Amino acid sequence: MSNYHIKHLEEYFQVYRKSVRNPEGFWEEVAEEHFHWRKKWDTVLEWDFSKPEISWFKGAKLNITENCIDRHLRIRGDKTAILFEPNDPNEEAEHITYNQLHERVCKYANVLKDQGVKKGDRVVVYLPMIPDLAIAILACARIGAIHSVVFAGFSSTALSTRINDCGAKMVLTSDGSYRGKKIIDLKAIVDEALESCPDVKTVLVTKRTGGEVTMKEGRDIWVQPLLDKAYLDCVPEIMDAEDPLFILYTSGSTGRPKGMVHTTGGYMVYTAYSFKNVFQYREEDVYWCTADIGWITGHSYIVYGPLANGATTVMFEGVPSYPDFGRFWEVVQKHKVTQFYTAPTAIRALAKQNLDFVTDYDLSSLKVLGTVGEPINEEAWHWYNDHVGDKKCPIVDTWWQTETGGILISPIPFSTPTKPTYATLPLPGIQPALMDETGEEIKGNQVDGRLCIKFPWPSIARTIWGNHQRYKDTYFSAFEGKYFTGDGALRDEVGYYRITGRVDDVIIVSGHNLGTAPIEDAINEHPAVAESAIVGFPHDIKGNALYGYIILKETGEDRNRDNLKKEINELITDHIGPIAKLDKIQFTEGLPKTRSGKIMRRILRKIASKDTANLGDTSTLLNPEVVESIIKESL
Ligand code: ATP
Ligand code: MG
Repeated sequence: MSNYHIKHLEEYFQVYRKSVRNPEGFWEEVAEEHFHWRKKWDTVLEWDFSKPEISWFKGAKLNITENCIDRHLRIRGDKTAILFEPNDPNEEAEHITYNQLHERVCKYANVLKDQGVKKGDRVVVYLPMIPDLAIAILACARIGAIHSVVFAGFSSTALSTRINDCGAKMVLTSDGSYRGKKIIDLKAIVDEALESCPDVKTVLVTKRTGGEVTMKEGRDIWVQPLLDKAYLDCVPEIMDAEDPLFILYTSGSTGRPKGMVHTTGGYMVYTAYSFKNVFQYREEDVYWCTADIGWITGHSYIVYGPLANGATTVMFEGVPSYPDFGRFWEVVQKHKVTQFYTAPTAIRALAKQNLDFVTDYDLSSLKVLGTVGEPINEEAWHWYNDHVGDKKCPIVDTWWQTETGGILISPIPFSTPTKPTYATLPLPGIQPALMDETGEEIKGNQVDGRLCIKFPWPSIARTIWGNHQRYKDTYFSAFEGKYFTGDGALRDEVGYYRITGRVDDVIIVSGHNLGTAPIEDAINEHPAVAESAIVGFPHDIKGNALYGYIILKETGEDRNRDNLKKEINELITDHIGPIAKLDKIQFTEGLPKTRSGKIMRRILRKIASKDTANLGDTSTLLNPEVVESIIKESL
């Protein structure tokens, strides 16, 4: 069915037009033809962005795990559903078929039930990237419990805050986890977190590393013995389309993380639909997304989207640098991966290494490459295109957010001609708008503004857990009747979108709006520069001026700093104009990043304006030590 699997540009435009002319009709058709519903909906869509209230497929009944597992058993029961690649390359990969996944999810679901978990209960999942993580969240969905995955690299404070915020009584974890050379004592972190979580009554522990753990009597239980005894089938709980499926906290790049609530029916339809199109997924493909399931990318495009399409999805426990920087490519070669989806931060890290790490492997199985999470700079885009994709694989630069549930703007490979640094065109059903400061929509092409979405799509988050007011204030108050993304974007002469960065980070210099991404892009073109981040700081005359934090490549370390500064500013003048020249440049060893690899510009902004007393929420920071050293260097 063409609506569901777009194959050329003309078809994209046809489908897109149809989706805008009649969104309800469009999504109804997709929902009807490609999913298993226990009962159909009474209405396709009801919405009011001023409240805000949104419901898709109201009155419909389903269980998402029936769609992700059960309905595949008859036709692809022996097909690999999850392909688990362990941290240690010498440990054997595990192929979990759809039949096996069904049994393991059912058993896990029965264990949860035996432990008293009921529909609507929140279960916090703090597990590393091992099969039990995917199985545990599917088990929650099987019985109607709301899962909230907390990335297993977060500290005990970040964990306890999230447990208390969503009011979970149960935590699922493991004894430990492997990350490259390191072994992390996850259970000890949980123990510490639970000192401030009095409501948690049960902790189920998976054995992974075999490390020593303390098991608290009456609270902590090894899960394997329970699974061994559990019954191998579990009748799915029949859910309403608008029942919550999960809560997931945003990355915290811009402030205190928000617990986004996603519901069942619309989320399933949209993630499955976008997965199929954006990755041009075919039955025999082996798809690999390197994200952690602790992020929305992992929820939508490792678990739900791929499994709803009956795909084989790779789950990787390790890191790109272990045992060496060739690991990703070794895994691609070994499993003949066809679609590879990663983040710009990983690409930049790999591009810094010797090219042999890539060329040593046979990557000819690859068909489509993807990126997500941050704007991808031009240099990284070309490296990915030339060396990983051998100029044959379209790159899908996918723009979306935890709040959007699925990809909203992206090329459709083999249909949309790609353009470096551009996320290109909205997917069917997505109606973007660029707004100016006065709240007017900016029409036409070759314009830039604040990116909003005018019409609901099925996987939009419905609220922030326990704080509907914050949901309204954050997303629906800046521009009346529109969802505000918080990002800035430009639309080029053919209507392609480029995300230029967070609106919070847009710097106004002498009355000009400057996005961070295009300036960083120009800087990164300098052969001595590895990475950069720019922020604004107050300036007497211009109002604001630009401050650049720049990491040099090893080869650039002994270059004359003053010459470098001059060359960098020349590049900016060439690419953007003298208005964007940097007033201050600080060469630094590292940049503060979130655990998902994004630069935390709000911290750099504070340092640049010498306001370091209160740096805000830094609980999701990967490298707090870098902050100290940047502050010292800046003095
Ligand atoms: P918080 O909302 O807590 O500040 P966050 O916005 O980093 O955290 P996510 O939902 O993980 O949390 O990230 C979404 C954001 O990531 C987008 O709003 C956008 O700024 C950025 N982003 C994601 N994909 C792309 C992309 N392809 N190009 C440019 N930016 C992207
Ligand atoms: Mg955000």
